[in-house]
Amino acid sequence: MNREMINKEKSKRIIRKERGITLIALVITIIVLLILAGISIATLTGENGILTQADNSKTETRGAAVEEAKKLWDAEKEMAKRTGGTAKSLSDLLDELEAQKLLIGTERQDIEETGMVTIGSRTIEFENERALVTMLKKAIEDGCEGGESCTDKENHLHIGDYVEYNAIATGDTIDTKETINGEEKDKYKYESQSSANGYTTLEKQTYTVNNYGETVNWIVLGLTEDEKNILITTGSPVRKEADDPYLYLQGATGYINAEDELNNISAIYGKGDYAEGARSITVEDVNKLSKYNPETEEYGKNQLYEYKNTMTVKGDETGKYSWSNATNGYADGTFSGIHTSNGFSYIENNEVKNISPADTETEISLESTYYNYNANGKVSEKIYNKFFNTGSKYYWLASRAVNVYPYCADFDVRGVDHGSVYAYGLFISGGYEALFSCGVRPVVTLKSGVTKDNIKILAEQTEPTWQ
Ligand SMILES: [Zn+2]
Repeated sequence: MNREMINKEKSKRIIRKERGITLIALVITIIVLLILAGISIATLTGENGILTQADNSKTETRGAAVEEAKKLWDAEKEMAKRTGGTAKSLSDLLDELEAQKLLIGTERQDIEETGMVTIGSRTIEFENERALVTMLKKAIEDGCEGGESCTDKENHLHIGDYVEYNAIATGDTIDTKETINGEEKDKYKYESQSSANGYTTLEKQTYTVNNYGETVNWIVLGLTEDEKNILITTGSPVRKEADDPYLYLQGATGYINAEDELNNISAIYGKGDYAEGARSITVEDVNKLSKYNPETEEYGKNQLYEYKNTMTVKGDETGKYSWSNATNGYADGTFSGIHTSNGFSYIENNEVKNISPADTETEISLESTYYNYNANGKVSEKIYNKFFNTGSKYYWLASRAVNVYPYCADFDVRGVDHGSVYAYGLFISGGYEALFSCGVRPVVTLKSGVTKDNIKILAEQTEPTWQ
């Protein structure tokens, strides 16, 4: 190469360099163009930016497609029902949607566990015919109580039906521990201390899941308020000890802690596979079964103890007590004697308080929340036998009540006893304390998407005899 050629080559390179445009210049140019076009970076990438909008609309489109597929599936099922053909199962449908990339991440799991999924602004509910919730709703809709005369054995689940639930989760044993607030505890055992249950004869009363090798039979109690979950309870109350199955609750302490202790014992049963947790059975549960509505039943109408009647009590100059201002118009009056020799005691905000007859200043307010009824004749024989006719057993309800008489007030824990929804007075206004013992009936909430493949429906079971 001679000099001339080299120079020529150099000048070519220079020209090329000048003709080229750097990336940075390009970006600046684009930004300038965008600014000129009135589009800011925020418009592109902000919350309402073009890119986000595009992403949202993609999700919305996907949601619409899933909703469409679900509607088609519903139509297919309806068609199959009418023509006697078969429709694809929920899991087949979910397989298809996943293959089409219409379901992503944990969406399938959401559908299987809760029966619904939210994609963008859409919440899509899937009715799984094998889901226990669907089956129970269907039986209620068809007015079927089960038994031999069941009109659709394949698709029904009824209140009082037996199901197979194991309160111990897969992989756990009776001795499995769990850590709560940094403290290691027995997962399947609860010790009710005498300081909580008030029964000082025993230091503690211990409950352990299935501790006596006896099968606990679980039965369907109903649906949760939002109708998304199935509630199951034990056929019989659970046992504490082989020779003494009952939980003892005594006095003001027992009354104050009754609901907590019953719920704590019950909680050890709510840790099995497919369970969301457990609590004790309550008066609301049994009222729902018997359709007893205390708000409309007018228990004790026009009496001092009328349900929800509130009155004031205070000392009286004559050494008696007076009641007055009853909300139901019950006449004012005075009382003394049998239950007030130690002053008038009562429990307010979980504390025992007392007013002496000489105290004419302090005025306390007492609301009567007591009622009782016999469920016999109010419910079907099946419901009566499963929940009310307890035979030799009695069970607590984690519900308290105050019973106001013309001369005293009882502080009660409710229970079910020989067909009756009843209440046991653990603390009486004269300061008297009483002891009662009843069984514990846990109520387990099953996860909402649970199917009959997860929790098997069983034929009639034999309930263990206690005594
Ligand atoms: Zn049925």
